[in-house]
Amino acid sequence: MRDKDGYWMRRAVALAGRSPRSETAFAVGAVIVDAAGREVAAGWSRDTDPFVHAEESALVKAVGVDLSAATLYSTLEPCSKRAHRPGATCTGLILAARIPRVVIAWREPDIFVTCEGVALLTAAGVSVVELPEFAAQARAVNGHLPGL
Ligand SMILES: [Zn+2]
Repeated sequence: MRDKDGYWMRRAVALAGRSPRSETAFAVGAVIVDAAGREVAAGWSRDTDPFVHAEESALVKAVGVDLSAATLYSTLEPCSKRAHRPGATCTGLILAARIPRVVIAWREPDIFVTCEGVALLTAAGVSVVELPEFAAQARAVNGHLPGL
């Protein structure tokens, strides 16, 4: 499982690098993988509109797919507070999609909001795995952010 997780997180980091940079938001990559190890959908920050989050983008592309055995990989902790779409946090969207497992590289630093994504997901019964060996890469994509 760990090798597969590394493979998909490397892909998520590469996707994060495609994000148009913003001084007010993170650059994040996300991939949804089904139980058979096939990619269902992928996204990155601002890939389909100026405010879309990576996880949100991937989830929108996977609408209609049964994700109840899928894993969502994200380079950053899924958000739990959101300025532009307060009713559509990535944490809430992941729970609504019934995704049972989330793998992240980096906990969200408190430069914009205090993120409680991991705590909320865990409390809801989602298995959350952190791959700290990818945190430096996930952070490096965000070297443009003031305050980081
Ligand atoms: Zn988000």
